[in-house]
Amino acid sequence: AELANQIAAGEVVERPASIIKELIENSIDAGANQIDIDIEQGGCKLIRVRDNGSGIAKEELALALARHATSKISCLDDLEAIMSLGFRGEALASISSVSRLTLISKPESQTDAWLVYAEGRDMLPVIKPTAHPKGTTIEVLDIFYNTPARRRFLKTEKTEFSHIDEVVRRIALAYPNVIFNLQHNGKFVKQYRVTQSPDQIEKRVATICGTTFMQKAIKLSWQHDDLCINGWIATNIGQEPLQYFYVNGRVVKDRLLNHALKQAFQETNKSLLTSTDHTLSYIIYLQLDPHQVDVNVHPAKHEVRFHEARLVHDFVYQAMVMALKQEKQ
Ligand code: ADP
Ligand code: MG
Repeated sequence: AELANQIAAGEVVERPASIIKELIENSIDAGANQIDIDIEQGGCKLIRVRDNGSGIAKEELALALARHATSKISCLDDLEAIMSLGFRGEALASISSVSRLTLISKPESQTDAWLVYAEGRDMLPVIKPTAHPKGTTIEVLDIFYNTPARRRFLKTEKTEFSHIDEVVRRIALAYPNVIFNLQHNGKFVKQYRVTQSPDQIEKRVATICGTTFMQKAIKLSWQHDDLCINGWIATNIGQEPLQYFYVNGRVVKDRLLNHALKQAFQETNKSLLTSTDHTLSYIIYLQLDPHQVDVNVHPAKHEVRFHEARLVHDFVYQAMVMALKQEKQ
């Protein structure tokens, strides 16, 4: 079983940024509205993610580290309509198999917080009481300390940090109501705040993507039956293009979307048409019935399959055409 843990770990745990992605997703699934991320040495030395979410009960702590233990899916029907970001129950098992992991948690209903510690192959979790406010802290030390071959694949601190920064941006863009604080080597490097205003999403996008993008961008907003799309699109924003596509709050890579966007540009406004899609920037949020999309395609959950791909494609295309036409008037 330990070997199996490590093999699968290769798929989910590639570098510090992939660990942070999994930990933040867990915090969001736990309903946290504040997530504090502390890293040292680009995450290679230390990754600590603390949230104020629902926490894990003492009896469930050791289980949370076990392989294929998820509290989010309990039957096949759940798998047909995944509402949470996680569902495989393998992230914590994989991470703890290649690091020294401490998990501390306190649900609201419990008076004490409890801690479990697991180290690499020796999955004999130690459990003891500790102090912690409501929520969860996970600390991951020395990743790949027991797999030197993989440790050698880690890049410089700067490169690993830039991957982490990108992961946090990507998730923060989809969760404007969650506060994110990112510290590197003891200094705050990113703080995504929350204000009590109805245009919280605009604020978050402007903070992360810059005001030039917001000024140039065409707003996209449409709904039809179970499909809902929102977002911003711009060309030539004078910096690296931003390309973020979210399906039900999950960032995904999808060619269907790119195709639909390009086609809409071609149809409506040749002057906006760009020779390559590399200058097209977009932040698009698509919401649809979770029954209509399969996210169980790849362990890292970057890909999705739409049951009715044509329908989704045409919906995105139509929404984009309408946005472009309004823009021209
Ligand atoms: P998954 O997210 O696919 O269920 P994970 O290995 O990421 O699997 O996490 C295992 C389980 O541990 C989760 O199902 C959840 O019950 C619990 N858990 C992990 N992180 C948190 C957290 N930050 N807050 C509350 N529960 C958590
Ligand atoms: Mg998870």
